[in-house]
Amino acid sequence: MTTIRHHIPDTMLDAYRAGTLPHAFGVVVAAHLSLCDQCRALQEAGDMIGGALLQDSAGSALRADARERMMAALDAPPPRPPLRVSGPFPSAVMDELDGKPPRWRMLGGGIRQQLLSADSEGALRLLYIPPGKAVPEHGHRGQELTLVLQGSFSDAAGAFHRGDVEAAHDEIDHQPVAGPGEPCICLAATDAPLRFHALIPRLLQPIFRI
Ligand SMILES: [Zn+2]
Repeated sequence: MTTIRHHIPDTMLDAYRAGTLPHAFGVVVAAHLSLCDQCRALQEAGDMIGGALLQDSAGSALRADARERMMAALDAPPPRPPLRVSGPFPSAVMDELDGKPPRWRMLGGGIRQQLLSADSEGALRLLYIPPGKAVPEHGHRGQELTLVLQGSFSDAAGAFHRGDVEAAHDEIDHQPVAGPGEPCICLAATDAPLRFHALIPRLLQPIFRI
């Protein structure tokens, strides 16, 4: 397994622990936790001490190094729960799929998606991007949290491999391009429709609820 370099933002991990994340984002966090020893250790440590360290009122100076200090405080790795992973899909994703393989819908350009859930708080989808293909350039009206489950993609923020998450928000425009080799499969949560720059993706948006 490749080393995970891009993790869940701490604020989102806090919200996940507090149970305040919208469903779509919670599934992405749960899937990342099942692939990432570091975030899982943080999560378990946070559970043990009630989040007191991360939520200390001393403010941002403490928060900035809370992750490092908590990792250092863990002199022994906590026991790991058994991981249920089916092919590229962690158990949190398999639950969304009702244990079945994805039923892809073509989006054009070889890109496919399966919408897993959508409500007023956010949408959750699986995306399938053939090697070397680009997702149409887009911006965001809200937050987007994308977890790589297979293959890789890259954009201006860097390269993202299995287990990596990219957190994008309304100030970021990007055009992810799948890496060579395996098709890239991603799990993506959004809390508002994306902003596509080209006409055709814009026309297709209502149909595919992207
Ligand atoms: Zn992580």
